[in-house]
Amino acid sequence: MASGSVWDVVIVGGGPAGSAAGLTAAQRGLRSLIVERHATPQPGPCAGWLGPAALEHCAAYGVDVARLGSTFTGLRLRSWDLKQCVEVHDAKLKGGVVSAERLSAALLKQAEAGGVRVVRGASVQRLQLGESAAALELSNGTTVTGQVVLIADGAASPTAELAHLGAARRVASGAACALALWDRFETGATPGKGLDLVLGAIQGLKVATIACAGEHVRVELMTRDHSSPAKTQLQAFVDVAQANGLLPRQEATITAAAGCLAGTALEMESHVGKRCLLIGDAGGFVTSFSHEGIYPALRSGELAAETVAAALRAPVLQDELASFSTLWRSELAGYLRMPNTDLGLLMPMVFNNPQMSRRVARAFLLGQAF
Ligand SMILES: Cc1cc2nc3c(=O)[nH]c(=O)nc-3n(C[C@H](O)[C@H](O)[C@H](O)COP(=O)(O)OP(=O)(O)OC[C@H]3O[C@@H](n4cnc5c(N)ncnc54)[C@H](O)[C@@H]3O)c2cc1C
Repeated sequence: MASGSVWDVVIVGGGPAGSAAGLTAAQRGLRSLIVERHATPQPGPCAGWLGPAALEHCAAYGVDVARLGSTFTGLRLRSWDLKQCVEVHDAKLKGGVVSAERLSAALLKQAEAGGVRVVRGASVQRLQLGESAAALELSNGTTVTGQVVLIADGAASPTAELAHLGAARRVASGAACALALWDRFETGATPGKGLDLVLGAIQGLKVATIACAGEHVRVELMTRDHSSPAKTQLQAFVDVAQANGLLPRQEATITAAAGCLAGTALEMESHVGKRCLLIGDAGGFVTSFSHEGIYPALRSGELAAETVAAALRAPVLQDELASFSTLWRSELAGYLRMPNTDLGLLMPMVFNNPQMSRRVARAFLLGQAF
C-alpha cells in the first residue's frame, strides 16, 4: 500500500458485514480496504443457520453454502415441552447450516478476489475523524487513511467507542442468549437434518434452534423470560430434549452469550458518525424474533457501501452519509422488528392449524409479519 494514499473506504472487521460492504464498494468502483484483527481464519465448529435471504446473498457472492455445510428446505416446529411437533413444508423456506467461522472466511476470500485489499492480523488502536479524511492507527504500526470508515468489528465494537458512537452491546435488548454445543458425539440421538425451531411463551418468549452440521450439534436459546439465567433455562431444555432422544446423551458445553443484540439496531440513537457508519453486529443489526444476524450483517454492509458510493459523489459527503439511517430503516426495519402478535396467545394454534404453523415459520425464516 503506497504510503499517503487515501482509500475511498476503510472497513474495520472482516466478518460478514465487512466482507459484504467491501464487495459492494469494490463493485461500485471504490478503492476499499478491510482491516481484520485475526491473521488467519478462526477454527469454528459452531453450527449456525442461515435463512433464505442469506443463502441467496452468499450465492450471489460466489459462496456455496451447500459445499461449506448443508442446506435444508422447510422447518420443524416444536413446543417447549417437546410434546408437539409439526413439519412445515414450504419451498420458500430454504436455509443452510454452516460453521459461522468458515462462512466468514469464505466471504472474506471472495471480497479479496473481488478487488478489496485485506490487511490481516491488525486491529485499530486510534481513530481520527478529520475534516478531509479519517486516519486509523493500526496495531501493526501503520496508519491507513480513508474518506469514510465502515465500522464492522462485531458486537463489542471497540472502534464504535473510538468514534464516540455507542456500541450496540450497550443497548438493552430485553433478551438473553445461551449456546449448547456437542462436538464429535458418539452415542445417543441426534436431531434430524435441517433446522428445528422450539417455541415457548409462558413467562416471556423463548426461542431455541437446533442445528446439526457434520459432527457438531448446536442449540441456541434466546429468551425474554427473566425468571432465571439463560444458561439455566437452556440446561433445563437440554435435559428434557436428551430424555426425549432429541439430542446426544453426552454432556454439552453450555455457555451464556456475552450479550444479546436482538433488535437493538431499532433502539440505537444513530448509526452515523463523522465520516463513519456502523454496520452488522456493531450496529445491532440482528433480528428480534429469530436472532438471525448474518443476513442483516450482509444487507447493512451492502446498504452502507451504496451510501458511501453516493456520498463520495455528493457536494457534502456528511449529508449523504446521514441518509444511511433512512435507507436501512426503509429496507431492514420490518425484517428486524418483532412480529406484532402475541405469540403466547397464538401458541395453541401453532401446532394444530397448518396455516398458523406456516405463518410462524415464515415469520421466523423470512422475517415476514404474521
Ligand atoms: C451465540 C450466537 C449465536 C448466533 N447464531 C447465529 C445463527 O445461527 N445465524 C445467524 O444468522 N446469526 C447468528 N448469530 C449472529 C451472527 O453471528 C452475527 O450477527 C454476525 O456474525 C455479525 O457479523 P459481523 O460481520 O457484524 O460481525 P462479526 O461476525 O463478529 O465479525 C467482526 C469481525 O471484526 C473483527 N474485529 C473485531 N475487532 C476488531 C478490531 N478492533 N479491528 C479489526 N478487526 C476487528 C473480528 O475478528 C471479526 O472478524 C449468532 C450470534 C451469537 C452471539
